[in-house]
Amino acid sequence: MQAQINQFGNTLQDLIALALGERSYTRAQLTRKLGVSRPVLSRALDPMIHDGFVLSEVSAREGGAGRPVQYLSLVDGAAYIVGLSIGRNEAAGVLINRAGQQLFSTSFEYLAYRGWEKPLQKLLSLLMRGIAENSIDTKKIAGTGVALPMSAFRDSDAAKAAAMVREEWSGGCVYDNIVAMAALAHLHSPAGSLAASPQMYVRLSGGVGSCFMWSSPVENIPQVVAGEFGHVSIPGIAQKCHCGNIGCLELAASYAALCNGAEVESLADFRQKLDSGDPQTADVLNRGAAALGFACAQVAMAAHPSHIYLGGEVVAELPQIVSLTQAQMRRHFSPAIQWEVPISSIPMDGAACAWGAVCAVKTSVAALQIKNESIATVMRL
Ligand SMILES: [Zn+2]
Repeated sequence: MQAQINQFGNTLQDLIALALGERSYTRAQLTRKLGVSRPVLSRALDPMIHDGFVLSEVSAREGGAGRPVQYLSLVDGAAYIVGLSIGRNEAAGVLINRAGQQLFSTSFEYLAYRGWEKPLQKLLSLLMRGIAENSIDTKKIAGTGVALPMSAFRDSDAAKAAAMVREEWSGGCVYDNIVAMAALAHLHSPAGSLAASPQMYVRLSGGVGSCFMWSSPVENIPQVVAGEFGHVSIPGIAQKCHCGNIGCLELAASYAALCNGAEVESLADFRQKLDSGDPQTADVLNRGAAALGFACAQVAMAAHPSHIYLGGEVVAELPQIVSLTQAQMRRHFSPAIQWEVPISSIPMDGAACAWGAVCAVKTSVAALQIKNESIATVMRL
């Protein structure tokens, strides 16, 4: 198995786990491989043995001469982090071990988002079944990440999710907006990178969500902030939004807006109608891209993102919305602005968001470890 999370915020413990995820080592071999002293290695390694993530087995040297050798190996079936994602019509969950290898994953779809509690409850029971069937050890889970839509935060009861998770296993809970989790998943993918200038992420799904991600000046820790991009007001849209505002972006560029405009049930039907050359459907898509391009241009002029990433069901089903939005955004840029903000598409489905939730926990744990290591250094002085 290849570790899927290995780019940012790696502590010495992460590097030990990654090495042991490949093969077993002795302490002497690990110190050479990682370029650290024996005491430094032991400080990081011993808690991992104590917590049951690393197995230490002593075996006699070949030929029976000299001291026995201690071999270290990864405990494959010990879960370390859980990632959960509750979207408008899809829930997904994943468990990884200490080396970032996937132990189990599950997902299921539902017709429409009617509150996150029921999908979360079902997701937890599916995971518990997978844990039992695969003999996964959940005693030392460091944390669970939960990706929820912005509406859950509006209800200010997202902390309930942590209570539901803690009924199944221990460890801290990190929850954030679903688009913020998608951004973290992208950051930790081979294509991801982190810069001082912000990157903007827009998820076109049941609603329209966005976040900005940029690098903290300390230790490459990502900073993410999400907002209510779907409720930015667009000139020329007269309808009233469920939020109470008039002309919100969601009324032009969300899953429901596109389907309603083309008088179809699903985006698959939308695409079929579009491919058959229906001018009304093409117009609906163009108006969605125009609204999104306008909103992106305003944001780009205010915050100067280095890149805009689009994802979600709308982008997965209608990839041409990316180039249409790019062209529309350029129209609304001030002529004085010479730079180009590239727009590309990335996966932001349930699986990606669940992986992002794992990354959120890993980032928090790494930040805490770095802080504790710094405090320990100061105390030694
Ligand atoms: Zn609105």
